[in-house]
Amino acid sequence: MKIEMHVHTSEGSPCAKADAESIVRTYSRIGYDAIVITNHFDNKLLKDFGRTNEERIERYLLGYKKAKAVGLKYGIKVMLGMEIRLEPHTEDFLIYGIDEEFLLQYPDLCFMSQKEIFELCHSYGAVFYQAHPFRNPCRPQDPRFLDGVEYNQRPDSGNHNEKLDAWIRDYPKLKLISGSDCHNLEQAGYGGIEIERDVSDIKELVRLMKNTQVKFIGR
Ligand SMILES: [Zn+2]
Ligand SMILES: [Zn+2]
Repeated sequence: MKIEMHVHTSEGSPCAKADAESIVRTYSRIGYDAIVITNHFDNKLLKDFGRTNEERIERYLLGYKKAKAVGLKYGIKVMLGMEIRLEPHTEDFLIYGIDEEFLLQYPDLCFMSQKEIFELCHSYGAVFYQAHPFRNPCRPQDPRFLDGVEYNQRPDSGNHNEKLDAWIRDYPKLKLISGSDCHNLEQAGYGGIEIERDVSDIKELVRLMKNTQVKFIGR
């Protein structure tokens, strides 16, 4: 099963140029079996998504829900993830294993520390990875509070994976995943993971990610 782990849709991420349906159609065409929608959970964006937490979360989930609704039509599984930025920093983190209920319960995630959000994710059965840790202006964050890091292979993106290769040697417990950080149709399919068996949902995928080092596409 081939899974894209990091993709945005224009409904949830204003920086993304492709809507949910065109993303799903494209990933189906290029041979992926599933995608994880990881729109930005960023306080600067959320403020404009509504007045109440319920309105903001509803708007945040719009891209995922639209993608999910057309997934069946294109024969592709759509799962929920998140790319979060913690105030006041510029690093991005990827969360897998959360759901709508979690978001409604913890709408102020952006104001937590890395340690707090890592522990919260674990208490919910979710996992917490740093996205593209060497892409400027990002710097690798505290490895004690990470499940792993993303090996981002999107071209011309300043990922500095040679630095990541060197850095991660000191942290053998950290897992690696790969994702495209796809913001438009030209950026589709530069990463992801490949697993032997099918998973039915994000919770099952997360269990697999915790227990094994999943094989990632490319490199
Ligand atoms: Zn973006
Ligand atoms: Zn991203």
